[in-house]
Amino acid sequence: MTFDIEQELEQINQYTRKAVTQDDVYLFTLTLCDNEVDREFERFTPEALKQLAELFKGKTGLFDHSCKSEQQSARVFSTWVETDSARTTTQGEPYTSLKARAYMIRTKENEALIAEIEGGIKKEVSVGCAMGSLCCSVCGADRRTAGCDHSKGHTYNGQLCHDVLSDARDAYEWSFVAVPAQRAAGVTKAFLKEEPMNPEILETVKAADTGLSLSKPQLRQLQTEIAQLEQAGADAAAYRAKLLSDIGRSVVLAMPQIDKSLFLEGCKAMTAQALERLCESLKAQTKSMQRRPQLFTKTEQTPTDNHAFCI
Ligand SMILES: [Zn+2]
Repeated sequence: MTFDIEQELEQINQYTRKAVTQDDVYLFTLTLCDNEVDREFERFTPEALKQLAELFKGKTGLFDHSCKSEQQSARVFSTWVETDSARTTTQGEPYTSLKARAYMIRTKENEALIAEIEGGIKKEVSVGCAMGSLCCSVCGADRRTAGCDHSKGHTYNGQLCHDVLSDARDAYEWSFVAVPAQRAAGVTKAFLKEEPMNPEILETVKAADTGLSLSKPQLRQLQTEIAQLEQAGADAAAYRAKLLSDIGRSVVLAMPQIDKSLFLEGCKAMTAQALERLCESLKAQTKSMQRRPQLFTKTEQTPTDNHAFCI
């Protein structure tokens, strides 16, 4: 795919208050979503990707870099759907993805961020969208109303059951998620679906005292919700375990005088986000020590209990 800078500047200037030139902006290409079954056992139809292509034009993207508190933004100015006929999805469809071109206004502050995008470090994108239809891939039943006996993630006659997402209604913002170089399953895209859960069911469950009566579709919806929560919980646990193991490895190198198991015990109460930050800073520390090994071996450090838990 080649891009014509003049044409792109014209597209960008539809979104800017004053006209920008090539030197003012940093342009990059990203994949917003595709037609592969994802970790939440959901899949967009190629038709839905086309609809999303229109909806994502002009949408803002955020960078939530764990080392910085401020968020920096980019904007999608053109989108297209690309089919790679040489690549087949697990469902036997040609791999189709929604691609976008985005721009950032170059500033002193986002130089480092641009370098990261350039270096391919920031790759995972999370998108928010509202889908009008959510159907069972096995029998086609509408998940929101009718429900069926098939559960996402289970296999029926060799067919992986998942939700087919179509009828895109709206697209919200997109964001780059902070992903460690070696990632475990856990960081996934978040779909803001319309009415993910019938509030009536929740109220019924909350108000239940001695017993509970649910209709079959309500029961299915509740079961789907529980399955999703379980999946999200398992993903989160796997991701935390991965972070803790990375931290354990780094702490031995960065702070050899610290009791590793005691340190990890203290880490267990931390949120995943805090663990990510700790992991990154320990890795940075290890790297800087590796660069000056003579300094490291000569320095005698006195361990202090509190110091180990400072992030
Ligand atoms: Zn079904």
